[in-house]
Amino acid sequence: MADLLSVDQALERILNRIEPLPVETVPLLASLGRVLAEPLISEISLPPFANSSMDGFAVRAGNTQFATREQPALLRLMFDIPAGSSSEGVLYPGQSARIMTGAPLPEGADAVVPVEETDQKWKPGDDSPLPPIVSVYTPVRPGAYVRPVGEDIQAGQTVLEAGTRIRAQELGVLAALGKAEVRVRRRPRVAILGSGDELVDIDQPLTLGKIRDVNSYTLFGLITEYGGEPIRIRTARDTLEDVRRSFNQALSHHPDLLLSSAGVSVGAFDVVRTVMDEIGKIDFWRINLRPGKPLAFGEIGGVPFFGLPGNPVSAMVTFDVFVRPTLLKLSGSTHDVPVVQARLREALTSDGRRSYIRVKLSRENGQFVAEPTGTQSSSALMSMVQADGLLIIPENVTEARAGETFSVRLLRNVE
Ligand code: AMP
Ligand code: MG
Repeated sequence: MADLLSVDQALERILNRIEPLPVETVPLLASLGRVLAEPLISEISLPPFANSSMDGFAVRAGNTQFATREQPALLRLMFDIPAGSSSEGVLYPGQSARIMTGAPLPEGADAVVPVEETDQKWKPGDDSPLPPIVSVYTPVRPGAYVRPVGEDIQAGQTVLEAGTRIRAQELGVLAALGKAEVRVRRRPRVAILGSGDELVDIDQPLTLGKIRDVNSYTLFGLITEYGGEPIRIRTARDTLEDVRRSFNQALSHHPDLLLSSAGVSVGAFDVVRTVMDEIGKIDFWRINLRPGKPLAFGEIGGVPFFGLPGNPVSAMVTFDVFVRPTLLKLSGSTHDVPVVQARLREALTSDGRRSYIRVKLSRENGQFVAEPTGTQSSSALMSMVQADGLLIIPENVTEARAGETFSVRLLRNVE
């Protein structure tokens, strides 16, 4: 096994050759799923003004100190503060104002009494005039039901770090801070190539000896899931001309990354290797990895290139191990592939290569327990369909005991 490259060595060589993509400015909604190129520092505090968290009455807390249901505090009702109001009313001792959720607290007030703790009742659409007096049934402390200035965000605070992927909640924060445009990294454009005389597309009949092209679909899905923009190139026949043509077609789309599957197995008669050697600078690696030992990496026309194995599971696993971190780096993300620790439900044997076992995860006593998803054949796609993650059996481990703990790379969110 001495001539095999380790997974970590291969990944390091790959990432050393990858630079984050250029930065661009996009409208807020278009930034969803993209990665922030600059930290977001807030110029304002949120909320910008102290406001009520309940429908009720703005008061001076001290005025409610001795309030009970039998002996309510009687406060003079001075004015109304609807949401969105910018009234400049002031509360003096013994006074109160009717206030709606989110409305600014008037000067002089330091607390809110919820309507349920008073003699008042509000019905939707009620526009009856303010009664002169409100009876308050319970004391409130200063600050009760008040959202203070800067409770959420303080002016000057770094709200989002560069390298953050923008999800719904980040969109919300950007909107709250009035960012109509956002500086993000370009989305990686990834061309998908494939070849094989045995491959037919989904709309063609499955005659004897043919199989459907799966990889261009799984790779399309993975690229999209991890923030890239897939470009599908028609699958080539196993001829030099057709493979050359498909590589040239891929390059004409100006991709940031070229992904091809099949044609890298050692000894296979494959024209793909010939074309790769002819037009690019490619290393053919044998990696201490199962599934997916053969991998080609290099560049074609200045574009980083991966030649993934052809078997559908091997292509997906090598994507997860090598291409997923590459996409993260291209898009400027500082996130790592999520990994959890899980105990093996049953013993497993391995051949001493680093193995990525497709597993289902369950929770037992607050810990993850991993169970292989049936056959681990590198062409058995159902093992991927059922998998929550890839459990890593390290190099040189041949016996993994039941109950032993291993790292699992997550392929979906697990709770
Ligand atoms: P190769 O490296 O060309 O010998 O391919 C290895 C295995 O992967 C063969 O069984 C191919 O039929 C299979 N294979 C290659 N490309 C695809 C693809 N796009 N979809 C499904 N299977 C494929
Ligand atoms: Mg082939």
